[in-house]
Amino acid sequence: MSRVYNFSAGPAVLPEEVLKQAAEEMLDYRGCGMSVMEMSHRSKVYDDIIKTAEADFRELLNIPDNYKVLFLQGGASQQFAAIPMNLMRNKKAGYILTGQWAKKAYQEAKLYGEAVELASSADKTFSYIPDCSDLPITEDMDYVYICENNTIYGTKYKTLPNTKGKDLVADVSSCFLSEPMDVTKYGIVYGGVQKNVGPAGMVIDIIREDLIRDDVLPGTPTMLKFKTQADNDSLYNTPPCYTIYICGLVFKWLKNMGGLTEMQKRNEEKAAILYDFLDSSKLFKGTVVKEDRSLMNVPFITGDEELDKKFVAESKAAGLENLKGHRTVGGMRASIYNAMPKAGVEKLVEFMADFEKKNLK
Ligand SMILES: *Cc1c(COP(=O)(O)O)cnc(C)c1O
Repeated sequence: MSRVYNFSAGPAVLPEEVLKQAAEEMLDYRGCGMSVMEMSHRSKVYDDIIKTAEADFRELLNIPDNYKVLFLQGGASQQFAAIPMNLMRNKKAGYILTGQWAKKAYQEAKLYGEAVELASSADKTFSYIPDCSDLPITEDMDYVYICENNTIYGTKYKTLPNTKGKDLVADVSSCFLSEPMDVTKYGIVYGGVQKNVGPAGMVIDIIREDLIRDDVLPGTPTMLKFKTQADNDSLYNTPPCYTIYICGLVFKWLKNMGGLTEMQKRNEEKAAILYDFLDSSKLFKGTVVKEDRSLMNVPFITGDEELDKKFVAESKAAGLENLKGHRTVGGMRASIYNAMPKAGVEKLVEFMADFEKKNLK
């Protein structure tokens, strides 16, 4: 067996300890004679798995009792519709456009009401986070929407927007559990787990209770009503059982590592290794303004498309996988999520330094 360093943006690297434990428990989950994949989601054994996962998740993020945690299917993209359907009572909401995922959410919201562009960084290929201190937010807006960490462009909000009293809704798919966060600053925090948490197939929503209501937009499917899911503790129908189980193992792993404060420290250390190199390199350049850089997704270029291609091919041959940038932007991108060990980032930087020596004209 040989494992590569996997810099994929998602689905992405998982902690080796978690994969090993899952392998050990695959055929016989803790003496019950079957795999987690094979058991009823209504069984006592599974009830314990999902309840423990939720309890550990709440503990990691210090989630107050007036927020519900929902384990849902349909990915983050399904929430682009579910959020306006559940929240747009005035049929109006403000969106800040910081990249492709924010834009997709904005476009989807337009199917249900008036989605207003409050600010955008499209003018400079989303390489920064716009000033959000005084946005044109109006009294009749139901919420203000952000994508907190922009997976494709590698930016992250370092301060949350001034929402002028409106509820903040945030897509945190690619920074979920990478550092502590104050959930009380948000109406809804949600993220697909396949970036920084677990395998694909689930999105986790953290929703303040007063936003879970019956008066949703007419035509909202039963499955997309937050109330349906909340009243049934994410077990209205069959949930993504195995994904929840693996996420539960990841939550235990995070707790064993010292929780999110410790993860933040490690993530800052890892990102600094890469950013420091980029800042001193004569060949490679980071594409994001310094103050808005993400700790999770680090895009970079050489400025020469042919050389970028060569880099991607040669890095792959050296056991550094999935460094190609998003198909819409090109260049390179290293996603260095929680489960990426420091040694992986060190090896990447070593490889980059060597590549620079050989290719700098
Ligand atoms: C990947 C990603 C999505 C889309 O997630 P799906 O689960 O594939 O729908 C949405 N938002 C962000 C920030 C992402 O990184």
